[in-house]
Amino acid sequence: MDHRARQKRFAELLEKEKLTSFLVTHMANVRYLCGFTGSAGVLASKDGEFVLFTDGRYSQQARQESAGAKIVIVKVAALTGAAEWIGQRRVSRIGFEAEHMSFAAIGGVKRLAPSLRLKPTSGLTEGLRMVKDGDEIQQMRAAVNLASKAFEGIVPDIKPGVSESSIAAEIEYLCRRLGAEGMSFDTLVASGKRSALPHGVASSNALPGNGFIIMDFGVILGGYCSDMTRTVHVGRPSAAVRAVYDAVLRAQLAGIAAVRPGAKPEEVDSAARKVLERAGLARYFTHSTGHGVGLEIHEPPGLRRAPKAKKYTAKSSGRTLKRDTLKPGMVITIEPGVYIPGKGGVRIEDMVLVTGGGCEVLTPTRKELIVI
Ligand code: ZN
Ligand code: ZN
Repeated sequence: MDHRARQKRFAELLEKEKLTSFLVTHMANVRYLCGFTGSAGVLASKDGEFVLFTDGRYSQQARQESAGAKIVIVKVAALTGAAEWIGQRRVSRIGFEAEHMSFAAIGGVKRLAPSLRLKPTSGLTEGLRMVKDGDEIQQMRAAVNLASKAFEGIVPDIKPGVSESSIAAEIEYLCRRLGAEGMSFDTLVASGKRSALPHGVASSNALPGNGFIIMDFGVILGGYCSDMTRTVHVGRPSAAVRAVYDAVLRAQLAGIAAVRPGAKPEEVDSAARKVLERAGLARYFTHSTGHGVGLEIHEPPGLRRAPKAKKYTAKSSGRTLKRDTLKPGMVITIEPGVYIPGKGGVRIEDMVLVTGGGCEVLTPTRKELIVI
């Protein structure tokens, strides 16, 4: 990963924002900009110079991992160390990540540097992170392929009577055996009527003799997340049940077909949603069509129906979600779903890379209905 190139791009961005100093406190952003993977640290920047503040637990690791940043090991909290450093440098104005600094942390910085003016920003590093470079794409391909392998491994274990939590445990065990550093989020396994819960965390319920099972999971590999959902059916599905699955699959394929550079995220959402409207199922599609993935499981851009630009924009950054059209190098999910209360649900989710001419589906797993 070329951290120095990222720091250069970030410094250019700060210049555009008329900020000569900045505090990066969100660990995913710290990692992105300098390579440090520890759980505590602050990356401060002043006039293109980067300094990583962390504590004694990470003195070796910070030196091994970080590139392009001076490392300062502090005996106090990393943010306190950074604030003292800023105070010594006589910085008058500094940008910070409004979404990632608590009220208490801001108060602490103000106490240490009373004359400092703190300027809230939003989504600066996240904006850079949206477009993945070659190294990141390679890492994400490896994560996606690992999770897909685990899915194929779990299919023979799906039987009526087995608990959802044991299926989730088996998925996670297979992923770890295949080399995953961890899961990107708690594995979702929701069966029968519970499959109508879009975010059904695996319960102790037994898989029914007849019904859908939604499995949504992802792994972390080299720090990068994967995310996939497959829905299988235990027992013979009726024609009506199969029609619901087919509609979701058609919606998912329509969403994928709409992914190309220059497309607005809401256009992709509406391509998927229209298919479900025609099938009379749109009212059961209760979430957005997808999201960006990378160092975090949910990243911009969000593929929503009506983007609320205000929510995402800080006055200082001047960026809005509306203006974020899809660009080559973005990695997003396409995951429409239908959830019929009291009956069940279906979701199909792939990870997709935006390419120069359209897109490439990264998830290799088959999508025709698996009947067990
Ligand atoms: Zn998912
Ligand atoms: Zn997802």
